[in-house]
Amino acid sequence: MQTYPIPLVPGPVSVPQAVRDPYQINFGSPDLEADFFDLYAACESQLQTILGTGNHVTIHSGEGMLALWAALKSVLRPGDRVLAVANGLFGYGIGEMAAQLGAVVETVGFAYDDIPDPDRVRRVARRFQPKLVTAVHCETPSGTLTPLKELGDICREVDALFYVDFVASGGGVPVQVDECAIDLGLLGSQKVLSLLPTLSMVTVSPRAWDVIEAVGYPGYDALAPWRDGPAQRYLPYTHNWHGMAALQAGCQLLIDEGLTNVYARHAQVADYCRRRLAEMGIALYPRRVEIAAPTVTAAHIPSGWDWPRLDAALRAQGMVVGGNYGPLAGKVFRVGHMGNQARMALVEQGMDVLAEVLGG
Ligand SMILES: *Cc1c(COP(=O)(O)O)cnc(C)c1O
Repeated sequence: MQTYPIPLVPGPVSVPQAVRDPYQINFGSPDLEADFFDLYAACESQLQTILGTGNHVTIHSGEGMLALWAALKSVLRPGDRVLAVANGLFGYGIGEMAAQLGAVVETVGFAYDDIPDPDRVRRVARRFQPKLVTAVHCETPSGTLTPLKELGDICREVDALFYVDFVASGGGVPVQVDECAIDLGLLGSQKVLSLLPTLSMVTVSPRAWDVIEAVGYPGYDALAPWRDGPAQRYLPYTHNWHGMAALQAGCQLLIDEGLTNVYARHAQVADYCRRRLAEMGIALYPRRVEIAAPTVTAAHIPSGWDWPRLDAALRAQGMVVGGNYGPLAGKVFRVGHMGNQARMALVEQGMDVLAEVLGG
């Protein structure tokens, strides 16, 4: 099996040693031991700090997609109206997921290389009167970052719940859950937090808890049992203690570094990455640099290359980047500089390899 000393995939990202260490420990049963519940509470508190919220943060066994489904299923009944704000693969996809659950979905759509226009979202929201508005903070496949504050204001104006996928940005970019009025905020473990793809987290506002209670969805991924379960020391399944210990370590790395320093580190490597790509004549995919994400850079496949050949040439040098899906497949590639991969030395090394491959 080939391994890659220059990992630049936008998730799962490389795992730092401090996050790997807890996997060597033998823990007891998370169902029974007080230590586990103390750990859960400590992780929730760290995540509240990182995400800027006083809301509950529920922590689930299962990677990022579990959070996306859990939050939809827990607040929607068939026939409920959902407004999907979409400017990329995940944004459109979340609308399709809601439709699969029987919701009446209207999508307010924008180009993949752009971000949503709040005025258009407001007009549609006023007419459509949705129960839930969904949006994506960082569209990982297209490398854009959408400001959330005004979308949150719109949700309050029309009295809708605000559902935000910040799986690829949370921790590396300020995500002000409370300031942006986010009712359901979704995070996964294998992006900025740099864990294995094992956990997902959901910030749940009091407004969202009320809806969750009223809907009463009962599945494995249901949010309802997490409202009082951790405090009452009763969870719906055997949790992933190793993953939770890793989560505590991963959050602590960010908090010890200082969140402003973490954000600056992401902004700096992203800026550097874009500059190096420009020097190589590679065009950034997002229309404007102001909307480019600090955690992942999406760029056009360089002229004279196709994706399979570029991918193979980089892999031969020990470097792996992200390809793409859907309409961007074969056209846009991605450099994932989030979490443990948001290191200048690594991105520099990656850009040197890319320059060499393209020049050679
Ligand atoms: C990674 C990611 C997810 C979770 O998807 P997986 O690839 O299955 O981990 C959800 N939303 C966004 C925006 C992501 O980047």
